[in-house]
Amino acid sequence: GVLWSKNNEFKLEFHKLVHHMITEEEFEEGWRQMLEKYSLKKHPFLTQIYEVRHKWAKPYFRGVFCARMTSTQRSESANHLLKGYVPPGCPMHLFLKQFQKLQFDREAEESFQEKRTSLSGVCLRVNLPIERHASKVYTRAMFEKFGEELYKCGAHVLDEVVPRRVYKSTHVEAEKREKWSKVEFKIEVDEDESFFSCECGYFEHARIVCCHALQVCLGDQRTSLIMFHLPCLL
Ligand SMILES: [Zn+2]
Repeated sequence: GVLWSKNNEFKLEFHKLVHHMITEEEFEEGWRQMLEKYSLKKHPFLTQIYEVRHKWAKPYFRGVFCARMTSTQRSESANHLLKGYVPPGCPMHLFLKQFQKLQFDREAEESFQEKRTSLSGVCLRVNLPIERHASKVYTRAMFEKFGEELYKCGAHVLDEVVPRRVYKSTHVEAEKREKWSKVEFKIEVDEDESFFSCECGYFEHARIVCCHALQVCLGDQRTSLIMFHLPCLL
C-alpha cells in the first residue's frame, strides 16, 4: 500500500526480509521489529501473508535447492519477457511470430554469455589457487557469485569449537548490522571430512559455497572439502 510506495526506508527493510537468505529466527525477529516500528501489527495484508510465511519466506526453504530463485520468480519472469514482445489482445498468428522472435533473442543472449565466459579476461580478487581454479571451470556469472563469497570471508573471523569438526564464524562488524541479523554461524564438518553444513543454508539453497564454509575450507587448506562442494572442480 501507501507505506510501501511512499516510504523508502520501509521498502528497503521489507525487501531485506523477503529477499535475503536469512535464518528463521532472523526472519521472525526482523518481522516483529518491522511491524512494531511502523505500527503495522493489525495490518490485514501483512497479517495474512505472515500466516502463510512457510509458503513464501526464504528461511523456510533453506534446505531446498532453488537455484537462487524465489517461488514465483520463474513465472513472473516469463510473463515479463512475453509482455515485452506480445502486445495485449494480439491475434494468434502474431503471437507465434513474436514468440519465435523471443526465442531467437534468448538463444542469442545465451550464446553471448557463453562467449563472454570463454573469451573475456578474469578479474581475480584474492589470487588464491582455488579462485584461479574456479575461474577456469565456472561460467563468468557463477564465478562472480563465488568471488562475492570469497570477498565476504574477510569480514568474518573463524573459531574452531571442536577440532576439525565444528567451527564458528563471526561477523567482525556485528554492531553495524541490523539488530535482528545473526552474526554467528555454526559450520559442521562430517567425520570423513567430505561434507560440511552451515547454519545459513546458502549452499543447500543456491549451490554456492557460503563465505562461512569457505573460510573453513581455506583455513585448513582442506582441499577435499572444496572439491566435494565444487564438483566441477574435480
Ligand atoms: Zn554459511
